[in-house]
Amino acid sequence: MQPKSYFIEEVYQLIKEKYPQYNDDTIVIPKIGNKPVVTFKELTITCLSIPYLKDIGKKFLRSDNINRKIRECYQLNDQKYWRTKLLNLVDLKYCPMCKKIFNKTNFSKNARKCKQCVNINSKNHYKNNKEYYLKRNSTQRKRFVERTPKWVTSKELQAIQEFYNNCPKGYHVDHIIPLNGKNVSGLHVLSNLRYLTAEENRSKSNKYIPKIEFL
Ligand SMILES: [Zn+2]
Repeated sequence: MQPKSYFIEEVYQLIKEKYPQYNDDTIVIPKIGNKPVVTFKELTITCLSIPYLKDIGKKFLRSDNINRKIRECYQLNDQKYWRTKLLNLVDLKYCPMCKKIFNKTNFSKNARKCKQCVNINSKNHYKNNKEYYLKRNSTQRKRFVERTPKWVTSKELQAIQEFYNNCPKGYHVDHIIPLNGKNVSGLHVLSNLRYLTAEENRSKSNKYIPKIEFL
């Protein structure tokens, strides 16, 4: 089921509840010279619809000082990302891929895209790169076999399989010493396996930095 997405006007109503001191037409940026006043509603709707601070400034003909004025209005600190900040205030978040606003629960931790978009992305990625994945899997299998020493017992092979089967969600099985490392090549044995998060695994790549201990 598709989660509820929010219209800007709905978001505005939620934000308004956080600022009972303001009405729709409370003047939050006064008239300066020939520059018109800006009301709470105008400012909030604009900050929610225009992602860049300089464009917000342009819209109100006040490129100077606009950030300070906005900061004063909401009593919040931000350098430029007002949309993010205001949405965050009411536990919402914008997805740059489907361009919709959802509850924060519809995003994985630290993810920019909503869960549906992340899903579509990884599915498409697999579909468009099927050849690569199939090849990678068979290359990987071959490498595992090559790097499994003769002395490994069938009991250990079973334990290795179990280690893979028990891999917790969000983790990858990693070879502590990479099987195809630049300086050293590890073995496909139980003592060379550990669980890493996908993130840690990516940043580790095929590098192995040995710990040198002096006796
Ligand atoms: Zn999305």
